[in-house]
Amino acid sequence: MTIRQRQHLLAYLGYYTGSVDGLWGPKSRDAATRFQREYGGLTPDGTVDGDTEAALRQAVAEGMPEREADSFWEEIHYFSREEFRCKCGGRFCSGYPAEMKQAVVLVADRARAHFGAPAHVVSGLRCRQHNANSGGVENSQHMSGEAVDLRIDGVSADTLLAFVRFQPEVRYAYKINSTNVHFDIPREAG
Ligand SMILES: [Zn+2]
Ligand SMILES: [Zn+2]
Repeated sequence: MTIRQRQHLLAYLGYYTGSVDGLWGPKSRDAATRFQREYGGLTPDGTVDGDTEAALRQAVAEGMPEREADSFWEEIHYFSREEFRCKCGGRFCSGYPAEMKQAVVLVADRARAHFGAPAHVVSGLRCRQHNANSGGVENSQHMSGEAVDLRIDGVSADTLLAFVRFQPEVRYAYKINSTNVHFDIPREAG
């Protein structure tokens, strides 16, 4: 694919607004980076490698892939995506160093429905820096959206833990203190 072709495709997809001049400058790199980030599964570095070219062709032919973030939240009754954002407060990340995985959010939603009381995400997503600052283990699943620390009003950690452990999606769960429970789902390969 020539640079012009790349610019054409990025323009068609709405990422590139510069002129199709065959010169790979900052505007082109920005456009490619945003495309790579939103497409998912690509390194967002503005360099169009074979994978990115294939993704560009795919996106033009069939549209952008539906991201988990857009699809499953509609089925969640009691939580919004925002409640799981990293609590570093924007100091080290945009709030979403990863997307929450559907299975772990479903368990939280089910727990909330089961106990019928307000539930609080004590800790959802964590960027690497926030995870380190909050004493998380180095490979914490909070960084990949595969874990949540949950508290439910009027429900002890023992009771919540017993419920959570019974859920088929849950790999591992433990009490953090008298009210808060951590649970996670199996790690995604890679
Ligand atoms: Zn953060
Ligand atoms: Zn945790």
